[in-house]
Amino acid sequence: MNPQNLPAVLREVRARIAQAAAAAGRSAQSVTLLAVGKAQPLELLAAAADCGVADFGESYLQEALAKIAALQARALTWHFIGRIQANKTRPIAETFAWVHALDRLRVAERLAAQRSAHAPPLNVCLQVNVAAEASKGGVLPAELPALAAAVARLPRLTLRGLMCIPPEESEPARQRAWFARLRVLRDELNAAGHRLDTLSMGMSGDFESAIREGATIVRLGTVLFGARPP
Ligand SMILES: *Cc1c(COP(=O)(O)O)cnc(C)c1O
Repeated sequence: MNPQNLPAVLREVRARIAQAAAAAGRSAQSVTLLAVGKAQPLELLAAAADCGVADFGESYLQEALAKIAALQARALTWHFIGRIQANKTRPIAETFAWVHALDRLRVAERLAAQRSAHAPPLNVCLQVNVAAEASKGGVLPAELPALAAAVARLPRLTLRGLMCIPPEESEPARQRAWFARLRVLRDELNAAGHRLDTLSMGMSGDFESAIREGATIVRLGTVLFGARPP
């Protein structure tokens, strides 16, 4: 995609976010647009930053670290949204503001131990495997309360909310049913004493459904930057 097209694309995506928020009786400001730049060139990310995008998501650590270093002067907020290997936690703990796909206590403990006391706490979301798909990461809903309780006790981490990547559905009603499931799990945790303010849900194909069900962060790649280069 040509970076010159980005301002118009962003205007349209922001309008769609605002429209979905309005349909849910929410303000557009209650939804954070997280630009997912994985496999996309630096110039596209820089163009998005020029348009006021402040939050960027990356899935591949080496690629992410190079981009973060190259865009350091811009004071962006970086989110690690990929699967986390236990032996790669240190650069994540040292570099990112958010982690979205936490699903194991061992990884959470390493992140907590490796987060500097001088940095703000690392914001974390627990990934939930809402449809119990064998191919996907995430904690099963039945195991979520125990993991949330354990993570909430760790220092240097702030448990902010839940994240999911549900099965692809073309019907908005079916998309919404998965996202509603994550919202209910969040509400149940809050009823049990947690204070979770974040639902990281919705990608290019389903973000409007996610916003209707309460998404506070939508993770958008293709709809912003075009198809990822092979
Ligand atoms: C790649 C990716 C996205 C963005 O997907 P698009 O369909 O291109 O918007 C969102 N979340 C995660 C976890 C991803 O890996």
